[in-house]
Amino acid sequence: QVVYDMDEQDDFYLSMINKRRLKVNHCYISHELFEIVITFLEKQWHLLSKRIPPKQKYFDIGPDAKEFQDFKNLKPGKYNIAVLNALVYGSDDGVWCGPEQDQPCAICYGSECDNANQIVFCDGCDIAVHQECYGVVYIPEGQWYCRHCMTAKKKEAHCQFCPSTTGAFKQTESGDWAHVICGLWIPELTFKSPVYMETIDNIENVPKGRWNLTCYICKQKCGACIQCANKNCAQAYHVTCARRSELFMKHNLDAGMQNSLHLKNFVSFCDRHTPTTWLENHDIKEGIKKTRLYYQENKKDENNRNSNNNILRWESSIGTPILPNLIWERLIKLLEYFQIDGSAKLSSDLCKYWALKRETKTAPLIKLHDPYTTSNNIKIEEIPEKIEMANFLNGNINNLIKISDDIIKRQQLTLEKFDIDLKNIGNIYFPVIKLIKPVLEELLKLDEENNRLLWEFKPSIFKGTKLEYNIDILNLESIVLKFKLNQYSQSLLEFNNDIKILFDNVNRSKQKTNKVLNLKKLL
Ligand SMILES: [Zn+2]
Ligand SMILES: [Zn+2]
Ligand SMILES: [Zn+2]
Ligand SMILES: [Zn+2]
Ligand SMILES: [Zn+2]
Repeated sequence: QVVYDMDEQDDFYLSMINKRRLKVNHCYISHELFEIVITFLEKQWHLLSKRIPPKQKYFDIGPDAKEFQDFKNLKPGKYNIAVLNALVYGSDDGVWCGPEQDQPCAICYGSECDNANQIVFCDGCDIAVHQECYGVVYIPEGQWYCRHCMTAKKKEAHCQFCPSTTGAFKQTESGDWAHVICGLWIPELTFKSPVYMETIDNIENVPKGRWNLTCYICKQKCGACIQCANKNCAQAYHVTCARRSELFMKHNLDAGMQNSLHLKNFVSFCDRHTPTTWLENHDIKEGIKKTRLYYQENKKDENNRNSNNNILRWESSIGTPILPNLIWERLIKLLEYFQIDGSAKLSSDLCKYWALKRETKTAPLIKLHDPYTTSNNIKIEEIPEKIEMANFLNGNINNLIKISDDIIKRQQLTLEKFDIDLKNIGNIYFPVIKLIKPVLEELLKLDEENNRLLWEFKPSIFKGTKLEYNIDILNLESIVLKFKLNQYSQSLLEFNNDIKILFDNVNRSKQKTNKVLNLKKLL
């Protein structure tokens, strides 16, 4: 079943491919075939990715693990990898510095919060930030993503001003990424909208000298460094390196982010000029060691990444899926089945195109319904448990049905009660109606038995006669009408009078028709 629909971009790419194929006398590739190929690749990738083991989040430390000998307080057991990373390499974003509930804000490093300034966690990268520090004006219900996770998802963030790829990022005017803390601590930088804490601005005002400084912690010359606040010291370091090494960094965020942005009073010291009180709680020497180790290992990783070490990877560092040769070969077979020439080249072209398209979309290109995955994965020993669960759920559903029936019954009874109440209220407020009704019904019945003489009675008015007809009460029909309009509700006497008037009218009528004569007899 082909589920993929071509878009304009595909159209453009396909016509380019076809032009190229025409030159070497290869056959034309139709839209239909292109859609088949993309659907095929999506399905293959879907099947494959189901088998990719999930990223390991925990690490077991055995009783004689050598890597963690330095951390004597670490008992053997299961550890969150982020926690171990923070122990070995330090942390510049506060992720997993301690128990989850105490994770500090990646920007101000405070963990206090109140209703107006809550700490929110990014569901993509696990950083925590204060609403004010990151400019989260409104917390959405459900998941919240930081700016980078929302827009660039799997791509690694690269700060313009430092080598760190972790932390709270925002964008600059040109769309590049930068740490919020880099934006705060580098004196020349500003935020276009302090409320939203975004678009890091004024980059052109950062002096050339700052870009040329080499960080004394990570020893890298990249981005822009800040310097020790001691007037006689020229020590330079990246904002995030200082953070990771736990250097003294004082700011006035206690006074609120807006005030601090205004005052720009951010002060930091190198390890030699650190105030002694700071050293009581911070092991800076150790911190610098950890930071250096972190960037050394990072470099090794990067080299590995560049040395064609892609065999065990499913995705590139920016999230491009890496298709194994097997799928490429399968696609060739598929193309050959459709008798397409030049299938090997076409297969690799289409695989590349698909991977790039997948990278930009960061989501499957087709919707795959997979009704079998859940049932296929059941193990035999789990079946009795599943049956028990199903029976339990079934029992619950039956109970629900019973409750629903009872509710319907209750509502019906309530309705009946309302009807009775309504009648009672009517009887109390309009007691006359109840008295009139049976009389009127009896009269109608009698009239019905006598050819409706009273109902159709038409008194005639003669000029000059002394008879005075009550023109409202012409016959029985007008009385019934008056009754229906509730005009007797106030007094029994009026009804009584009207009946009398009607009877009088008949009796005094001078008409000699059979009808009237019969009626007179009856009355
Ligand atoms: Zn904060
Ligand atoms: Zn995030
Ligand atoms: Zn940075
Ligand atoms: Zn550095
Ligand atoms: Zn210094």
